[in-house]
Amino acid sequence: MTTTTALPAPAEFSANPLDDALGQLKAAVETLSYGPGQHQMLARPRREMSVSIPLRRDDGIVEVFTGHRVQHNFSRGPAKGGVRFSPHVTLDEVRALAMWMTWKCALLDVPYGGAKGGVTIDPRGYSRAELERVTRRYTSEILPIIGPERDIPAPDIGTDERTMAWMMDTYSTSVGFTVPSVVTGKPVSLGGSLGRSSATSKGVVHIALAALAHRGLRPHGSTAAVQGLGKVGAGAAEFLAEAGVRVVVVGDQYGAVHAAGGLDIPRLLEHTERSGTVTGFEGAEAIDSDELLELDVDLLVPAAVEGVLHEGNAHRVRAGIVVEGANGPTTAVADRKLHAQGVLVVPDILANAGGVIVSYFEWVQGNQAYWWTADEVDERLERRMLQGWASVLETARSRGVTLREAATLTAVQRVAEAHTTRGLYP
Ligand code: GLU
Repeated sequence: MTTTTALPAPAEFSANPLDDALGQLKAAVETLSYGPGQHQMLARPRREMSVSIPLRRDDGIVEVFTGHRVQHNFSRGPAKGGVRFSPHVTLDEVRALAMWMTWKCALLDVPYGGAKGGVTIDPRGYSRAELERVTRRYTSEILPIIGPERDIPAPDIGTDERTMAWMMDTYSTSVGFTVPSVVTGKPVSLGGSLGRSSATSKGVVHIALAALAHRGLRPHGSTAAVQGLGKVGAGAAEFLAEAGVRVVVVGDQYGAVHAAGGLDIPRLLEHTERSGTVTGFEGAEAIDSDELLELDVDLLVPAAVEGVLHEGNAHRVRAGIVVEGANGPTTAVADRKLHAQGVLVVPDILANAGGVIVSYFEWVQGNQAYWWTADEVDERLERRMLQGWASVLETARSRGVTLREAATLTAVQRVAEAHTTRGLYP
């Protein structure tokens, strides 16, 4: 089983991520000269569902949580996106994340629209049996709108392959037969794909190495800082170190550890597995989590939550390249500042797309009931990530825009084209 992703508190300056998502869309719509109708079609979610989730706790007391599932778009295929269990979940956050899923799938040419789900709960405060009950009740509440041809959930912050197994089982029991393709990111024993659990972090590292090369840097001799030690951050630190990059600082919500000569990542991951945090890791200097973002490194990988690079700290970022492992880690204001400072920001919808790419591979394998080898999955993932990088770089060059603008433009154009080709019903 993969470990549950860490849950840092949102940054002090963090804006509403929906404002950032809508701002990015508006800029793309203006560049593409779309009319107000088309803009509205792209801005508004197709469908939203908010549900109450009562939980009988192990001690008999009942608590009620709120859950959401937002389906932003279906123009290119069924909706697709993760489910987040976090105390910071709001409907607006889920809306923003659903919209980013639409662009991510379109950009990487994965035949889905975008969706996202969330439950406002801190999973660290609940037993495994309680989390199972919450997951099953949430699944049964959103059951009418999900399905392998409608909307396919997957893991995100605070959820993992065990959560997906419960979702798959709840859905299957309700319809009366086993439907593995209703979710992705399942355990391999239930039809999950080899390589899915490492897919997001491997994808981040393919892009990070391409971005370093673009700036004339080799992995050996380059330095990196990684924020977040959940599924994405831990894997990114590990694969960067394997590629020869000196990972000098890694942090979670409790603190960060720094070693100028490079951290021993396998040992650090063993330590965090045991203690639940990087703090207390021997042979490294303890520093403040915020300081991690401001160190003089070649590469910064924010792989935790939204809004960590904001108006209040963007001017202090000294990294030459930011590769967004998290969704929405850079606010719109910070994005402009970083660009003005000459920082190359590789946007989330490209950098962290490895997860949904291998989710797509899992769905394809499940639908065919024919499974690929780990090498096949990894090769196809790398090819798609590097094609995505090359196409975003080319669009940025030819249009004279940032990588984020290029990625958003390409994605928005593909979704709008599918919508226009299908036409309006009735
Ligand atoms: N939660 C992941 C993301 O934000 C993966 C989504 C999926 O595989 O559907 O991209």
